[in-house]
Amino acid sequence: MNDSKILEISNLTTYYYTSRGIVRAVDGVTLYVKRGESIAIVGESGSGKSTLAFTIMRLLPDNAQIVNGNIWLYPEKIDLVRLSNDEMRKVRGRRIGMIFQDPMTFLNPVMKVGDQIAEAIMYHHGYTKTEARRKAVELLEKLRIPDAANVASRYPHQLSGGMKQRVIIAIAVSCNPELLIADEPTTALDVTVQAEVLELLRRLIQELGMSLILVTHDLGIVAEICNRVTIMYAGKIVEIGETYSLYRNPKHPYTIGLLNAVPTIHKSSSEVGGIKGNPPDLVNPPTGCRFNPRCPYAFERCIREEPPLIEVNNDRAVACWLVV
Ligand code: ATP
Ligand code: SF4
Repeated sequence: MNDSKILEISNLTTYYYTSRGIVRAVDGVTLYVKRGESIAIVGESGSGKSTLAFTIMRLLPDNAQIVNGNIWLYPEKIDLVRLSNDEMRKVRGRRIGMIFQDPMTFLNPVMKVGDQIAEAIMYHHGYTKTEARRKAVELLEKLRIPDAANVASRYPHQLSGGMKQRVIIAIAVSCNPELLIADEPTTALDVTVQAEVLELLRRLIQELGMSLILVTHDLGIVAEICNRVTIMYAGKIVEIGETYSLYRNPKHPYTIGLLNAVPTIHKSSSEVGGIKGNPPDLVNPPTGCRFNPRCPYAFERCIREEPPLIEVNNDRAVACWLVV
């Protein structure tokens, strides 16, 4: 990994417009990703992780709008927020690839999987059909799929969940993107297959020198694969830090709660805690610190004023009045 950035997000704000009101799903997010680095975006369901990922890809539904901020892609420092749809289509796949949560919403059920990978290769590289098909089989072999040529000639419903997710990964990396965004890539898989797919992903991004943004609610899988962790709560980043240091010494009460909820071999079941209460409604989020209704340490200022995300040492930034 080198120190230059591949992506920089500044004050990014994405809202959904609904009959209930405005959902403040991503609200002033600032972060960067270095070349060759893997970062995780972690938070409970509804914290805005997927909205952030889909905002970067500019794949938001019609009722969503990016209302503020920038997403710069380096080295040119192109602002993805301001690209036309045509220009963004070229960035997608060629420079940024995405692995989706559910393979079946992404794969075409009536097309052989090898052809689906080949199609992506042809679109971005202009290879002939025969060359692209050969490349597709090579990619499946790289993803440790036994008898790859045979698998390439099957339809999605003929493959297991783990196999389908490998096909999705093959499509995402087929054009050698510089950055890969993986949104809960293993949630739909059982635990042993999850571990295999994650290991594969880790090896592949290392081999191909890609950067990774891994979106997950599961802090347990992050340590295996990511250099840094970003913790999101109710549309905002509450803590960012290097994985090892953040796990050993979490500073934000929400991060502490999330880590307490991760079962380990050193904890008995009675020691596995959690965070009381539910995430807030983002149409009408709490004033001040959005975590204040659930925070065991909340005091008067937390209800009145929003804590800024402040760097507390070289590798850590935290948004909490107890820390800044
Ligand atoms: P999950 O892990 O469950 O996917 P998440 O952390 O990725 O959760 P998002 O899916 O980004 O969170 O959701 C953030 C907020 O935006 C939630 O309040 C959710 O209900 C809302 N939201 C998501 N998609 C839409 C939509 N299409 N229209 C309106 N609100 C939406
Ligand atoms: Fe808790 Fe206050 Fe810190 Fe928010 S700012 S996490 S409510 S102590």
